[in-house]
Amino acid sequence: MQSKIQLRTAMWNNLAGSIRCPFCEEAAEAEEGAIVCRRGHRFDMAKKGQLFMLRRPASGGYDDELFAARQRVIRAGFYGPMHEALEPLLPEHGLVVDAGCGEGSHLIMLRDRKTFSGIGIDNAKPGIEQAAAADSRLMWVTGDITSMPLNDQAVDVLLNVFSPASYQEFKRVTGEDGLVVKAVPGPRYLQEIRQLTGEKSHSSQEVEEGFFTAFPNGTVQHLQADWRVPPERTADVMRMTPLTWKHRGMLNETEGPDKLTLDVRLLLSKPL
Ligand SMILES: [Zn+2]
Repeated sequence: MQSKIQLRTAMWNNLAGSIRCPFCEEAAEAEEGAIVCRRGHRFDMAKKGQLFMLRRPASGGYDDELFAARQRVIRAGFYGPMHEALEPLLPEHGLVVDAGCGEGSHLIMLRDRKTFSGIGIDNAKPGIEQAAAADSRLMWVTGDITSMPLNDQAVDVLLNVFSPASYQEFKRVTGEDGLVVKAVPGPRYLQEIRQLTGEKSHSSQEVEEGFFTAFPNGTVQHLQADWRVPPERTADVMRMTPLTWKHRGMLNETEGPDKLTLDVRLLLSKPL
């Protein structure tokens, strides 16, 4: 029987034609338990099966608790309508990359729907550790989305969900034929939490302008849905977003909203 390390190495091997060294841009290939480039940069498999490809650890950012809460809310189905809208955009074979994947649940749940090869990249190590612990079908990389370990035009669909973007790099890895899909919050996204914290409604206008400057032929799909929050997820809903951070200790986590609004705009780099 193959060990977990051998299984992951075999999966990386299948991706070898698509990956390159993030440090020197030379071709990279899989060895047992590692990715190694032609110039000898070596990235060893970490304990949970992930790869660390940053020159130095990123500081700050989201912590284990936020990622764990977010994972439970995503798995409970809050983003189901968004996954449904993304499904037809994804290839059955081919490479899907989630740039800024956090704890990986969106990519994992999409992989349950389609059989693509996938890579999740995020600079937050706690998120990538959770992703790798939860899923061994996909490659998980603690890395920099402005310098991804991917060859030019290697990616069929690049996802960028509620996360900062790097359009020049996204264009490089998708080329002419690939698709970039960026999910941004619509004005009513998580409005029930904003009401509790007194935050204004969210505007993604500037972000959208940046996207359409990079992709002038881009299009938008808008989706909105209500989610009945299961009582056992109330505290997670309050913990999963930075919206509540500065109010920590002041908000009663057991009195979170019983309904939550999903309001998402999917920005596509080209008409379909
Ligand atoms: Zn290298």
